[in-house]
Amino acid sequence: MVERIAVRVKGRVQGVGFRPFVYRLAHRHQLTGWVRNSTGAVEIEVEGEAGFLGRFLGQLRSEAPPLARIESLAESHLPTRGGTDFQIRESVVRAGSFQPVPPDTATCAECLAELFDPANRRHRHPFINCTSCGPRFTVITDLPYDRPHTTMASFPMCPACRREYDDPNNRRFHAQPIACWDCGPRLSLPVEEAVAGLKAGLIVAVKGLGGYQLACDASDEAVVARLRARKRRPAKPFAVMLTDPEEYCLVSRDERALLEGAARPIVLLSHSGRGLAPGIAPDLRELGVMLPYTPLHHLLVRDFGGPLVMTSGNLSEEPICRDDLEARDRLAGIADLVLAHDRPIAARYDDSVVRVVAGATRVLRRARGLAPEPVPFPPAPPLVATGAHLKAAFTVARDEHAFVGPHVGDLDEILTRKSFEDGLAAYRRLFRVEPERVACDLHPDFASTRIAEQLGEPVRVQHHHAHIASVIAEHDLRGRVVGAALDGVGLGPDGTAWGGEVLACEAGTYRRFDHLAPVPLPGGDLCAREGWRMAAAYGLNEPPSGVDERRFGLVRRLATSGQAPLTTSAGRLFDAVASLLGVCHHSSYEGEAAVRLEAVADPEERGLIECELSQNRELFSQLRVQRDSGEPVAALAAVFHNSLAGAVVRACSAACAEAGTTVVALSGGCFQNRRLLETCLAGLSAADLDAYANERVPANDGGISLGQAWLAACS
Ligand code: ZN
Ligand code: ZN
Ligand code: FE
Repeated sequence: MVERIAVRVKGRVQGVGFRPFVYRLAHRHQLTGWVRNSTGAVEIEVEGEAGFLGRFLGQLRSEAPPLARIESLAESHLPTRGGTDFQIRESVVRAGSFQPVPPDTATCAECLAELFDPANRRHRHPFINCTSCGPRFTVITDLPYDRPHTTMASFPMCPACRREYDDPNNRRFHAQPIACWDCGPRLSLPVEEAVAGLKAGLIVAVKGLGGYQLACDASDEAVVARLRARKRRPAKPFAVMLTDPEEYCLVSRDERALLEGAARPIVLLSHSGRGLAPGIAPDLRELGVMLPYTPLHHLLVRDFGGPLVMTSGNLSEEPICRDDLEARDRLAGIADLVLAHDRPIAARYDDSVVRVVAGATRVLRRARGLAPEPVPFPPAPPLVATGAHLKAAFTVARDEHAFVGPHVGDLDEILTRKSFEDGLAAYRRLFRVEPERVACDLHPDFASTRIAEQLGEPVRVQHHHAHIASVIAEHDLRGRVVGAALDGVGLGPDGTAWGGEVLACEAGTYRRFDHLAPVPLPGGDLCAREGWRMAAAYGLNEPPSGVDERRFGLVRRLATSGQAPLTTSAGRLFDAVASLLGVCHHSSYEGEAAVRLEAVADPEERGLIECELSQNRELFSQLRVQRDSGEPVAALAAVFHNSLAGAVVRACSAACAEAGTTVVALSGGCFQNRRLLETCLAGLSAADLDAYANERVPANDGGISLGQAWLAACS
């Protein structure tokens, strides 16, 4: 019996080879009809034998292309029409609809084979790509995703590329960034010359997917030191790009899969300390590693034949360079050589950073390859949330999708603010979001708050409530949730700087259940950089070695004067303990003291000091007594982590008992700390509580906007 059905497929089905897949599937089952893209869905009509139609529908899901993600598939019956063929029709644009677009995707195995095949017409072509791989979000200027709406618009296809592009049986059918030696973008410098420069110990600026990167020989301590000096980045670890991570690091199966996945993020791996310049990740046990993800990277890494430092092309604190003039200007004092090309970058995207902790992938920086992958979201009117001030990232949401934008950086710099506003405008345009609700942080002076105020009267969300809500949103937690937010600082409604909070949350509201005891913040924001100030605030009397005695005395007096602002920040407690133990008195990047304290902690040490969350002062004093009695630093750093985790578990258990729930959410920048997160999760699980932490968005302020958006949706 012959039947005709209409199918609407929603999800990530554009720019992933979905239409040619449907075309081939229809042919396999001798069906007639058509397929087309619209801005809301892929629309299909097929006609044929009922049995064949059934198999077609089954395989539409089971055999979908690797990058496709089907969210829904709706079918309805139509009268039969006859017909003789199956066609791919023109895209239709529906006003107001939107289409999830895939993030940028690493060069696939087939393209890679062609790249290094001397007989292939794209042999060593630095822009080779296909329907399953290549640039996406960093070249898109508008939707639907078609070549005129990309930065490839100015490269007319040659006849050979055009034939592949038009052939539904070709793996480059409708590959929008298709290119070859005849028609594609051009490098400003032969790859061979850039590689010769790298081998000669030069710093080379490379135009990547979402911005410029800086590359140099990762085994050469002198060039790494030069890069640090020129970039004004004294200690923050550099990522490396290489092909054989096992040679330098311990790699689990999950980590391998992440390294090789289509998103190709930087994966933090524990490294052996062999083979790489010590200046790459000074005093740390973990190393940021990524595999090559564009054809240009593959050429560079293979020709160079060793590990390369691959770091954002910017001065410390500034956003990554995107356009060529800007790069020439801003990178002139850093790079010895520039490897650019003439394909413009539509959007600024840094490399993403992830880490596997407690069996789950945790995103630390969400950018290239991950954004704008949507997060499922409750039904709500269109909305925009602008996040916090550091590690800024916005969220736009509509139609049960939240699109968390890419990591932009700290909004102190005018360049970063501009980048944030440009990115937000692009997301609103691409996903057709005219916000009916706006959310921002409670802090009136954040640049992100002012940007929100320009869009409407915002819902002002307490910082740590937003952190916890980001976990609630990610895991779709229902009912009452107890949240522990261990963080740097965020403004509390009482005007003090919060940051070590246990909140009982329900349906968009919260109650502050427990928190660290407030301590002075002598010097305000300076305390995050000068951890010794927090040691003074916690009662250390004598200056730690390397800290000026007179300045220490002044800060000590300020701390005891009653004039300094107060904080319950857990991040500042980490700073105080790191200084107490002589691990770090000055942080050259956000969280350095905590990162180094984690790195020195003895992994085998299980000892702890029993205390309540509000006994942070007592915890500090006890650690001090033990330090003075000669306990080793590695043991004390571990004891501190264990004790804080114990206090968090106890506070959460008490809050759960009172609130009548077993669900706990952990968030805030301190939970980027592997040991703290693992110990808390294990303790909560031992207490029969269901604990959740961030995975798809960062536990740091990069995840805040998702929580704000979720709370605005509830309001
Ligand atoms: Zn490919
Ligand atoms: Zn061509
Ligand atoms: Fe925060």
